Amino acid sequence: MPTALITGITGQDGLYLAELLLAKGYDVHGVIRGQNNPRRELVERLVPDVRLHNGDLTDLSSLMRALRESQPDEVYNLGAVSFVAYSWENAFVTSDVTAIGVLNLLEAVRLHCGDDPSSVRFYQASSSEMFGKVQETPQRESTLLWPRSPYGVSKVYGHYMTINYRESYGMHASSGILFNHESPRRGEEFVTRKVSKAVAAIKLGMQDELVMGNLDARRDWGFAGDYVDAMWRMLQQPEADDYVIATGETHTIEELVRVAFAHVGIDDWKRYVRQDPAFMRPAEVDELIGDASKAREVLGWEPTVRFEELVAMMVDADVAALKAGW
Ligand code: GDP
Repeated sequence: MPTALITGITGQDGLYLAELLLAKGYDVHGVIRGQNNPRRELVERLVPDVRLHNGDLTDLSSLMRALRESQPDEVYNLGAVSFVAYSWENAFVTSDVTAIGVLNLLEAVRLHCGDDPSSVRFYQASSSEMFGKVQETPQRESTLLWPRSPYGVSKVYGHYMTINYRESYGMHASSGILFNHESPRRGEEFVTRKVSKAVAAIKLGMQDELVMGNLDARRDWGFAGDYVDAMWRMLQQPEADDYVIATGETHTIEELVRVAFAHVGIDDWKRYVRQDPAFMRPAEVDELIGDASKAREVLGWEPTVRFEELVAMMVDADVAALKAGW
């Protein structure tokens, strides 16, 4: 039975990846941060077979301990301070966790592996936010990186450090450049979930308006359940490498809002939406669209959920949750 260790187990991707690996027969371990972490209960409820280890990406010795206790074949680094807007207000914390945390985990894995640096396979969650002020459209593995936020800069550090450990020490370390990926489990601070939840609440008469930031930005949104499968596929390759994971379709935030309202039968969506500069960012990533042809050719990976279906899935889940009083 293969064994995997996941950081960021309490997040959207950690939960989907744990489910996928458990279904494949893995022994799954997760690193969980902090005393009385409020999301521990969620992990224990959704994936009770995952074994949890206390640890923190900023604490090298805790990572060494988690590796020793779990003895993994594969390590997935999904832990990060991941909300772009927050990263300006907390640039140091974001850099500590999202940038230096990758170095800590790579170093812990390297030390753990001893004489055989490729005996543990490593996955780094890189991000399309690294493309920032895009230098090429669509974006691919070779596109010049130009991050536009402390979060993006931190992800660039982690990305290149992963490549460096692969090239310097011969580690089997791969990096997935994942474009935005969403689901009913997405945090409510992210735009898709903010919209799906508000649309559900407006439809049920529980909320009057939706206050938004920039409606002109474009994103390439996929389904998180598809994207964790790409992570796993990367670690099954004989050689470690970097891959863009994206749908190749891009939509504006305004389209997202319109499609979400239309799904509950509301066409005059502008009545409910107000813009507020408070939700605008100091620097914006205007347009993201990924070219995942390398992943398609090498990994045999394809997205299965398209934009409209994703929005419908998220709105339906929020309507059901609100009706059930969650
Ligand atoms: P990101 O791509 O990782 O920053 O993912 P987000 O879901 O946080 O934001 C996606 C885009 O939606 C960005 O271009 C934001 O500027 C834009 N946006 C517009 N209004 C909002 C809002 O109210 N909340 C969030 N989170 N994003 C918004």
